[in-house]
Amino acid sequence: MPAPSSDQRYPLLAGPTALMPLRRLSEHLGGPTIYMKRDDMAGPFPGGNKSRKLEYLLADALAKGADTLVTIGGLQSNHCRQTAVVAASSGLDCTLVLSESAAVKDVQFGRNGNLVIDALLGARLHVIGANEDRTVAAENVCRELVESGRHPYLIPVGGSNVVGALGYRRAAGELLDQCRHADLRPAEIVVCSGSGGTQAGLAFGLAELQSSIPLLGVSCWKRWYELSPIIESLVVGLRGMLGVTDVDIPEIAIDEQEIAAGYGVPTEQAIEAIQLCARLEGILLDPVYTGKAMAGLIRRIRAGTYKREASMVFIHTGGSPALFAYDQFAVSGLRPGGGYDL
Ligand SMILES: *Cc1c(COP(=O)(O)O)cnc(C)c1O
Repeated sequence: MPAPSSDQRYPLLAGPTALMPLRRLSEHLGGPTIYMKRDDMAGPFPGGNKSRKLEYLLADALAKGADTLVTIGGLQSNHCRQTAVVAASSGLDCTLVLSESAAVKDVQFGRNGNLVIDALLGARLHVIGANEDRTVAAENVCRELVESGRHPYLIPVGGSNVVGALGYRRAAGELLDQCRHADLRPAEIVVCSGSGGTQAGLAFGLAELQSSIPLLGVSCWKRWYELSPIIESLVVGLRGMLGVTDVDIPEIAIDEQEIAAGYGVPTEQAIEAIQLCARLEGILLDPVYTGKAMAGLIRRIRAGTYKREASMVFIHTGGSPALFAYDQFAVSGLRPGGGYDL
């Protein structure tokens, strides 16, 4: 059977991202050895998990003759910013439909962080209110583009459709290869889950390669009963697209304890996780996604979930530019003693 055109890949990553032990953080926590998969360094700067999805989405857009990428997200969306990077580097125009947040009131939120990068890259920014329908707004933008003779390609929130999920199906194979070479059998793989495409691609890729390593998504947005059907339908979609009906649908494990007050609202636990990673490893997490995911991992380690001699993998999905949009938490709340006032 010929491969469907949409599993074509446009290379944006220079090669596999590093898998590195976090020795000082692991020792500090007194738990298993945490290996970090550095997908924060994936693709053109500033990188992140969206680069892997965009390898497939961009190939699909180019195959369909698109000249403009259109996508949707919050004001500080990493996905939108990385789409703008990729559009600029491949000679396409980019329009971002960005919705304001009802939950975050920080002044920097509406002008700093990823927005600085979006603007520098020349993306057209179409900002809508927190209560406006993002999909309808994006469809209107696309219609206007078509009327003016352009060829838009609409990418959904987070790049989480079946084509985008191919990026993390591929990453699963890359990670398993690295584990094999390092003689590593992780007790678990932990990743942040937002719109679900990353976890879906990984779950499918691991199942396809018959790996028995459990995968846990730490949700920073949707409750498990909303997120797991989304992930399952993406897995079913991947199976259909690739024509591999013999791959079993894996169980989708979701930890929802870090959502707390909601998407984009930092927690004390996330800020502790960000500080620990920064100070012990020199690695920057972010307040929306990876800080919360790492907080989930730290909570599990402290609860004695893993054996001390075990190893485990945390996938760093990126997002550190958003730190600059949260100065209320990251800087002005900094007490002389080094902790944060929340
Ligand atoms: C988008 C994003 C995620 C979540 O990935 P999904 O595929 O949407 O679940 C995690 N971390 C960062 C930094 C992100 O930008």
